[in-house]
Amino acid sequence: MNPKKPVVLTFDDGHYNNYFYAYPIIEKYNFKANLNVIGCFSEYSTSSGDIDNPNYSYLTWSEIKTLHDSGLFEIGNHTYKMHQFKPKFGIAKASSESEEDYKKALSNDILKLENKLQQECGFTSQVFAYPFGKYSKESENILRDIGFKAFLTCNEGINKVYKGDPTVLSHLKRINRTGLLSTEEFFSKFKIN
Ligand SMILES: [Zn+2]
Repeated sequence: MNPKKPVVLTFDDGHYNNYFYAYPIIEKYNFKANLNVIGCFSEYSTSSGDIDNPNYSYLTWSEIKTLHDSGLFEIGNHTYKMHQFKPKFGIAKASSESEEDYKKALSNDILKLENKLQQECGFTSQVFAYPFGKYSKESENILRDIGFKAFLTCNEGINKVYKGDPTVLSHLKRINRTGLLSTEEFFSKFKIN
């Protein structure tokens, strides 16, 4: 039975330490998690032949495939190369950019990662995590056209999800968890009822 108040564990950026530290714990407790990867970081990690180091490495395509194939991780798209502050802040639309140019630039980047995931890992994703939580009023429709179904922001809070509402997985809020807070301290910050 689905829980009435589920918690979704989400990990952004595709750090190798998610594989090294989180994967064994998630497996041990049979949790599920969402992990949103950045294409150019994983491409670099794969093609440079970097030795995996939990202090700084990013996941390779083969590690992403292992996580996906475990059935424990839903892999999401965190852009191929728009996880940067310049020339644009994440996927924000530049004021000088026409709607058409914006749509083209965003679609090209996102599809580049989707194609890579399909080629290297054998799947495409349905979850999109906005880099730095930044989005524009046009972005969700563009992403929905590509096939994404859920959209993760960095706005802090708890989501109310109602069955049958088509916008229910838009602008999903998340709560950033620092490793310095105990579980009790963390949950006491939020009134969950
Ligand atoms: Zn990120």
